[in-house]
Amino acid sequence: AFDVLIIGGGPAGAAAAVYAARKGIRTGVAAERFGGQVNDTLGIENYISVLETDGPKFAAALEAHTRAYDVDIMNLQRAEALIPATEPGGLIEVKLANGGSLRSKSVILSTGARWRNVNVPGEAEYKNKGVAYCPHCDGPLFKGKRVSVIGGGNSGVEAAIDLAGVVQHVTLVEFADQLKADAVLVSKLKSLPNVTIHTNAQTTEITGADGKVNGMKFKDRASGQEHLVPLEGVFVQIGLVPNTDWLKGTVELSRFGEIEIDAKGHTNVPGVFAAGDCTTVPYKQIVIAAGAGATAALSAFDHLIRSGVT
Ligand code: FAD
Repeated sequence: AFDVLIIGGGPAGAAAAVYAARKGIRTGVAAERFGGQVNDTLGIENYISVLETDGPKFAAALEAHTRAYDVDIMNLQRAEALIPATEPGGLIEVKLANGGSLRSKSVILSTGARWRNVNVPGEAEYKNKGVAYCPHCDGPLFKGKRVSVIGGGNSGVEAAIDLAGVVQHVTLVEFADQLKADAVLVSKLKSLPNVTIHTNAQTTEITGADGKVNGMKFKDRASGQEHLVPLEGVFVQIGLVPNTDWLKGTVELSRFGEIEIDAKGHTNVPGVFAAGDCTTVPYKQIVIAAGAGATAALSAFDHLIRSGVT
């Protein structure tokens, strides 16, 4: 059995593995795809001390750092169920999709999240070529350009306010007949001179040429009329979905499906910790996920020494 078994091999899982292995305890990582979301990222410019890198390079560095220690990496393994220990200090079991199962004295859940797609023509084609999901990450790439934000909830309206300070013009498109964000955000948004808001508007296509975005189309749901907005970037802000379906009923989740954790990364299940985008941690970023992974590993180690199992 492992001392610490980490499920998920993104920045949170890799950081947890390095921190756990450095304690000299038996550490394993099972991940569907080692590297996680950074595999799908083009430029990364906000991981402090790394001026600029790209996703695949960052993912390779995560794996190399983890492999420098005695960590059992089980890549391409999907976890399907978590079975808590039946007695204090007992083993926790994780069932895998391949039919196997792993046992450990402590478990760190770091299965990340995925951005919800709008699923219109052009979205997949121009991902990272004008279609973006993270204003903190990619906002500066559109300095002085025109962008749209799809989604008028809190994250969409926050993104539009944030982007309005960086880009030339922001068009916000919301499907419902009004913005769902908090009133204070909506009034801030409406006060900005370089923002146009369309409600009751259905995004129908992201258009492009020469391999990059050049516009988006939306339909006015009242009149049925279609509009084309010329622009260089589209930020999709219709939700971040945590990869926690498999934990429903075992670990306490928020109403958004995020694993509820405290400041030390404890979940409600003894010996089970969590870190990164799959949790209630505020702000979903690489540097934050990595820090949370370190926290969870140190808490798992603390749990092991206090329960006398290591
Ligand atoms: P993830 O990176 O999502 O990793 C989750 C891991 O869990 C993966 O290994 C996955 O395969 C695995 N997994 C999931 N379910 C299971 C399961 N059931 N069983 C086993 N394994 C499972 N952040 C920045 O700070 N800067 C940026 O520039 C930036 N750009 C981004 C661009 C894009 C296009 C995207 C999508 C995200 C970007 N982010 C950026 C956000 C950043 O990638 C995430 O905050 C970060 O990767 C979260 O790390 P994580 O380890 O919590 O989860």
